[in-house]
Amino acid sequence: MNSAEWIAKADKYVMKTYGRYPLVPVRGEGCRLWDADGKEYLDFLAGVAVNNLGHCHPKVVAALQQQAATLIHCSNYYNIPQQIELAELLCSHSFADKAFFCNSGAEANEAAIKLARKYSREKYGENRYEIITAAESFHGRTMATVSATGQEKVQKFFDPLLHGFRHVPFDDVPALKAAISPNTCAVMLEPIQGEGGVNVPSPGYFQAVRQICDEHNLLFIFDEVQVGMGRTGKLFAHEHFGVTPDIMTLAKALAGGAPIGTMLARDEVAVAFSPGTHGSTFGGNPLVTAAAVATVRTILEEGILNRTEEIGDYLLGELEALKGKYPFITEVRGIGLMIGMGLAFPAGDIVKKGLERGVLLNVTHDTVLRFVPPLVVTKQEIDRMIVILDGILAEITP
Ligand code: PMP
Repeated sequence: MNSAEWIAKADKYVMKTYGRYPLVPVRGEGCRLWDADGKEYLDFLAGVAVNNLGHCHPKVVAALQQQAATLIHCSNYYNIPQQIELAELLCSHSFADKAFFCNSGAEANEAAIKLARKYSREKYGENRYEIITAAESFHGRTMATVSATGQEKVQKFFDPLLHGFRHVPFDDVPALKAAISPNTCAVMLEPIQGEGGVNVPSPGYFQAVRQICDEHNLLFIFDEVQVGMGRTGKLFAHEHFGVTPDIMTLAKALAGGAPIGTMLARDEVAVAFSPGTHGSTFGGNPLVTAAAVATVRTILEEGILNRTEEIGDYLLGELEALKGKYPFITEVRGIGLMIGMGLAFPAGDIVKKGLERGVLLNVTHDTVLRFVPPLVVTKQEIDRMIVILDGILAEITP
C-alpha cells in the first residue's frame, strides 16, 4: 500500500488524537526515515526527542532481539538482570538512590505526584498535597498530569481536573514564593520547557527554587521526560543548572525508542512507596529495560554527551546565522540539541514545506520551530537541513 492508501485506512480506523502530518514512515536508520512511497526524509524531530541514538541503533536493536528471544514479560518478580541493572545505572549516574519503572512520561509523572503526596502527608500532615507547577508546562495526558500541566488547551473539556495544583509563571521566583501555602508539598518543573516553546530559565532560577523548597520542606521534582538522556549534552538537563532535585522523571529517549518511563528518588523519599502502594503491569519489563540498558551504556560509553554539546553549538550557530538574515525570527535559544527558533507568526506552514522537501521539522507552542534531531546527527546533515530551511524562509513575506 502507498502512503495515501495507509492514510485513508488510518482515517477510517484510528482515533484522531494527534494533528498528524501526512507522512507514513516505514523504516528508519540514524537520522533518516523512509515513507511508504520510498521517499527519504532527514529527521530533525526524532519522535519528539525520543530517538536520541538515531533510528534503529544497532546496539538497541541487538538488545531487543536477544531479549525478545529469551524472556519478554514477567510481573511481580525480580526482573534480573535488565531492570536491576538499569536501576543501578540510573542511580549511579544521578542524585537518586531508587528507581520505579513504568511505561510513559505521563505515568512517570503520576508516580512522582503520588510519591510526593504520600511522603509529605506521612511526614508533615494530612493537608500537605498541593503541587506547584509552571504555566505553559507539559506533564502528560492522564488526568493527574493534565491537571499538573500549565496549558489550558490541554485541559479544556476534561474538567473537573484533579484538585491540588497551582500554576505559576516559569522563571519567576517571587510568583513561586507567593504561591506557597501550608498545603504545598512539592514544586514540579521541566528543566527546559519543551511543549511550552523551548523555554530556558535564567541562571540562578533553579538554585532559588531549591532554596525555597528547602526552607519550606517541599520536594523538588524535575520532569526530564523531554530533555533527559543526553539531549542537552549532559545525561540529565538539570546538571547544567547546579541543582539536584528530590525526584526526577524520565521517559521518551530512555530505551532508544521503546516505551518506558521511570521515576527516580532519594532513599528517604522513595521509602514512602511501600509494597502495595503503586505499580504497573508492564513497568520495567525485561524487553524494554534491556533496550534501556543498551541505550544508557551507549550514551555514556561512546562520547555522545560531549558530541551533543559540540554539534548542538554548531546547529545553534547556523540557526543564529539565519536569524541575522530574517527579521521575523525573534529568537534562537536552547542547550545542546534542544533548540527552539521563535517566529513572529505560526510556524505550521514551514513544517509542511519541510515535509515536501524531505526534512522533518516541528512546531511547538504555535510559533516556535523545535529542533531535536537524533544526537548522532552529523554536520553534513545539519548543513542539508539548513539549506532547505533557508530556502523555505526565503519564500516568506510576513
Ligand atoms: N513530560 C514532558 C516534559 C513531556 O514533554 C511529555 C511528552 N511530550 C510528557 C511528560 C508525557 O510523556 P508521554 O507522552 O510519554 O506520556
